[in-house]
Amino acid sequence: MTRTRIWHPFTQHGLGEPIPNIVRTEGAYLWMDTGERLIDAISSWWVTTHGHAHPSIAAAIAEAAAMTDQIIFAGHTHLQAEAVADGLAALFPAELAHIFFSDSGSTAVEVALKMALGFWAARGEGRHRILVLEGSYHGDTIGAMSVGARGVFNAPYAPLLFDVGTIPFPGDDDALDTLEAACREHAAALIVEPLVLGAGGMRMYAPERLAAMAAICARHGVLFIADEVMTGWGRTGALTACEQAGVVPDIMCLSKGLTGGSLPLAVTLASAAIYDAHYAPDRSRMFFHSSSYTANPIACAAAAANLAIWREEPVLERVAALSVIQADWVERAARWPGVIGARRLGTIAAFEVEDMRPGYLSALGPAIKARCAAAGVLIRPLGNTVYVMPPYCVSSDDLAQVYGAIENAIRVR
Ligand SMILES: *Cc1c(COP(=O)(O)O)cnc(C)c1O
Repeated sequence: MTRTRIWHPFTQHGLGEPIPNIVRTEGAYLWMDTGERLIDAISSWWVTTHGHAHPSIAAAIAEAAAMTDQIIFAGHTHLQAEAVADGLAALFPAELAHIFFSDSGSTAVEVALKMALGFWAARGEGRHRILVLEGSYHGDTIGAMSVGARGVFNAPYAPLLFDVGTIPFPGDDDALDTLEAACREHAAALIVEPLVLGAGGMRMYAPERLAAMAAICARHGVLFIADEVMTGWGRTGALTACEQAGVVPDIMCLSKGLTGGSLPLAVTLASAAIYDAHYAPDRSRMFFHSSSYTANPIACAAAAANLAIWREEPVLERVAALSVIQADWVERAARWPGVIGARRLGTIAAFEVEDMRPGYLSALGPAIKARCAAAGVLIRPLGNTVYVMPPYCVSSDDLAQVYGAIENAIRVR
């Protein structure tokens, strides 16, 4: 068994599984050092939206790198961050008036939680209980893990995770009543993955449920935090999943597709009420959060270029066209032997493959993944849940190859 110098994330090196070496990315493709090509059917873990190495994003990165590399963001600003702020303001609801930068989805969530607790502290109300959805995922830092589902992936850290109130999956009958009861106990905030619980198995629920949850929170003054880190940027068929439910949250987390998937960057958008709670002629009430690379100008330039693509190119039309092709494949996949629960929302398609030992550690997922890789297709099932979430530039021929590989892979269950 080879030990590797590089310790990869969510990788058990003890299994000795091959680690492909990617030397070039373009559109929907990853090229390996062997000269072979993989179709990136999961958008490199949900980040790549338009396609890899989009020319205008790549050009913006090169230009920014030569102009302003890294600048302290505490008390300073720069062109690139201002361009992102203007671009976001033009696309997102006016109620989300304030923009706080960070570096990843997890940190965007940490920032959201700290903003919510800061809001209540500033009001002198001791509200600190966070409500979460059963089976949710919000990242891998301690705070983000605390508001996510407990399981094998965070069991060693369980003693450090803070206590939360868990609301059933929104599609379940008792979800709204449980939420209502939990809100009455003066919760600080509810954090949700709107419309799709991603890492929890691509579980989808109706926009009406999202709207109902937001209304219950509003009625009880409980802050509503939408984690759009996966669902944002067109993935569910609209710019955000919240938009499909007519919901404007108090706080929204965005990352992954913010730079088109090219560089790490995140924003937490907040309402005026959240900002105002921290606004005072008193340094002790400022928002105490930063990281060294907050609003890195090169990453911001990539985000500004992404926002320009959203303004200037027919992104939602591409998303709609891809959604139609995905719908067609979901219909076909539903008839394959062993497939259950075939579903789709926007560009995201998912189904379960019948398995003797379901769950995240199912051996079936890695086996399907390996067979697909051998057929030139990158997927990464969540346990026995297979999903396809490609970049929007993927061709219908590529998708035919993707689903052909999956169909063959699951036949040898
Ligand atoms: C991926 C993800 C995160 C974490 O983002 P990172 O950039 O990986 O830290 C948080 N929330 C949701 C819904 C995600 O899908």
